[in-house]
Amino acid sequence: MKTFLSLLFCLVLGLFSPAGAAARDVTASVFPVWLLLREVTRDVPDTGVSLLLPAGTGCPHDYAMTPQDRRTLARADILVINGLGLESFLGESGRAGELMKKGSLIIDLSRGMDGLIHDDAGQDEHNHQGVNPHIFASPAMMERMALSLARQLAEADPEHASLYEEGGRRTAAQYAALAAECRETGARLKDRGVLVQHDIFSYLARDMGLRVDGVIRSQEGQEPSARDMLNMVRAIREKGTAAVITEPQYPDRTGRTLAAETGIPCLSLDPVAGGPEDAAPDYYEHVMRENLRILENAFGN
Ligand SMILES: [Zn+2]
Repeated sequence: MKTFLSLLFCLVLGLFSPAGAAARDVTASVFPVWLLLREVTRDVPDTGVSLLLPAGTGCPHDYAMTPQDRRTLARADILVINGLGLESFLGESGRAGELMKKGSLIIDLSRGMDGLIHDDAGQDEHNHQGVNPHIFASPAMMERMALSLARQLAEADPEHASLYEEGGRRTAAQYAALAAECRETGARLKDRGVLVQHDIFSYLARDMGLRVDGVIRSQEGQEPSARDMLNMVRAIREKGTAAVITEPQYPDRTGRTLAAETGIPCLSLDPVAGGPEDAAPDYYEHVMRENLRILENAFGN
């Protein structure tokens, strides 16, 4: 009966909603941006939130858009991206706009962002213009992205400006609390050095005061040579690296081999590049707290 009534209610609403008041489709490029977008727009009416890439995609460096993705993109009124070249599947700048409908808008969360990490050119093939694009893997950067998203949505849709701003403040406060936990855990770990799978943890390491001693440069399907392995083993010993950090998205064989060879732990941390499509509202916080627990178990005294 209850289901029937709610169905009837939906039908009535659908029938009587005035023309032109259809839900605005705001699409997030990738999973972590989608988590952020859902929270910031939670209380905003007439706003439908979509995710462009499948939730489990992870870091989309080698991603090629499918016909389904193009249809999702073509429906969007607003596309929200991480920026900094993370969404290289959209092609050169301006290309995404061509795939979208007239009057649509792209919101780039990295726009005007300070505190970006500039890596040595060519250090990692995922690196665009020397700027590390993985800002989403840092709660401290997510806090800024929440505020930036709210500000840009309010500019695009002034009618709901106060709701976006409220959502932005609430979401930013959640990430700020998480960033504080990262700093506190980091302080207890006392400036440990880590070797990472790809440069996705650079921002989180900075939040925590961890030193990134190096990046395992082997990419998918490309094992490092025996000489690369020897050099990495030597570097771990010279720098006193405390752990190798791998991530669920990429094979961890090289990381585990290096850790075993040097007698240091190999830890799998999740940078929240991807996740389940039914992720709970606090999914990001949950995964990051689990990462902190893993680090603390390995290093804590
Ligand atoms: Zn990446």
